[in-house]
Amino acid sequence: MKNVMEIKFKAIPENEAFARNVVASFILPLNPSVNELEDIKTAVSEAVTNVIVHAYPDKKGYVNMKISTESQNIQIEVWDNGVGIEDLDRALTPFYTTKPNEERSGMGFTVMESFMDKLEVTNKKEGLNVIMSKAIENKVVGL
Ligand code: ATP
Ligand code: MG
Repeated sequence: MKNVMEIKFKAIPENEAFARNVVASFILPLNPSVNELEDIKTAVSEAVTNVIVHAYPDKKGYVNMKISTESQNIQIEVWDNGVGIEDLDRALTPFYTTKPNEERSGMGFTVMESFMDKLEVTNKKEGLNVIMSKAIENKVVGL
């Protein structure tokens, strides 16, 4: 069965845990393993934190999130209407950060890439669009 949900919330640190937990609640019916759930929550956390930290240096803004599931496949899209990224290749490089003095390690995109099956990052007309997908195992309940 296909399912989909979409939400929009203020880009403030208080909403990072909310975003992670919303994703967890939505995908719970697919019976993810503890590891799969942790991986997905971590990836979402990185994408949402990026919007909170980087997207809106001079104004307030929102995080948009859409989750689609179809059988065991999960797609999570996170986007903003902020400044976007000038050099995407460079931003996706491990350890590259524009905020080295604020305890950023430049590993957010690398984490998303390694914890999910696929990561696509594109600039929109205004802001950034991140699409992550992952297929979780189809466990037979009761075995
Ligand atoms: P870390 O995630 O390890 O705390 P980081 O956020 O700097 O550090 P990445 O998440 O890999 O590292 O992001 C790399 C760079 O891409 C950021 O430093 C920032 O310049 C840019 N970036 C990421 N997301 C966005 C966004 N939504 N809007 C604008 N710039 C972004
Ligand atoms: Mg980051």
